[in-house]
Amino acid sequence: MGQQVHVLPLKTIEKMKKHYARMIQSTPQGALFRAKNANAVITAYKSGKVLFQGASPGIEAQKWVEETTPVASKNQAPSQKVSTYEPPSTLFEKTHIGSDEAGTGDYFGPITVACAYVQEAQITKLKQLGVKDSKNLTDDTIRRLAKEILKLRIPYSLLVLRNEKYNKLQKQGWSQGKMKAMLHHHAITNLLKKIGDAPLEGILVDQFCEPKLYKKHIGSENKSLPAKTFFMTKAESYSIAVATGSIIARASFLNEIDKLSDTVGIRLQKGASRLVDQTIASLINKEGRGILHSCAKVHFANTNKAEKYL
Ligand code: MN
Repeated sequence: MGQQVHVLPLKTIEKMKKHYARMIQSTPQGALFRAKNANAVITAYKSGKVLFQGASPGIEAQKWVEETTPVASKNQAPSQKVSTYEPPSTLFEKTHIGSDEAGTGDYFGPITVACAYVQEAQITKLKQLGVKDSKNLTDDTIRRLAKEILKLRIPYSLLVLRNEKYNKLQKQGWSQGKMKAMLHHHAITNLLKKIGDAPLEGILVDQFCEPKLYKKHIGSENKSLPAKTFFMTKAESYSIAVATGSIIARASFLNEIDKLSDTVGIRLQKGASRLVDQTIASLINKEGRGILHSCAKVHFANTNKAEKYL
């Protein structure tokens, strides 16, 4: 003798009542029906609770529980769809890839994108080093942390979209969003190749546009999202892997700005402030307008704003 209790949809219970019609017994108080067959005595209640008691209650219950499973998962489907791209909160403490970019809001210099593969066991070490959102760190700290990250031999992939290429793509009609999506995509696929079949719980991209749009951007270049890719805004404050990517990307951006400054012979500022407008004017006076294609994101409003300083 054994027993099993299941909560079943009322629709199923109605079906059961018809199914067991010839085996109905006297119904106890509060119950919808009671029936008996070779396997079990089945008692169904208004609450949806169904009691299976007898020689083989499991076998009898299975018929009805299995039937309701697809219904239950159908009901859950819409909510699952909504949160598909949101990382599970457990991801942050597990082995994962994080991806972030730098330079997108800066008039001078490239866009850099970096992703890093951080293993569970390295998370504490990176936190101790002070790895966090690069937006809250000084340039010197970023450079120092980038060196520390290299010493730890953390697998990463870094891509630099230099200004000539950026301006060319922009003229071809690429939005900055599409450039970023493709850079993240290539960086991630490079890194996935690098790590081979090493354990991986997921990939987290610091969200800069709707995941749907990201998918559309890479889809327009016949690329698709690798499995277990997640998106969230401000990801670098939650994920050490994204923070690591953001530091590598930012350090590379700083390095590129230094190199460009040396090449053009003028100190190029970060950002897109009025100081940048004045620098543009000096640069045009010194080298002519053509120089901007090799060191600036020419379509930014700063290019026109600089005219008043000429
Ligand atoms: Mn970011």
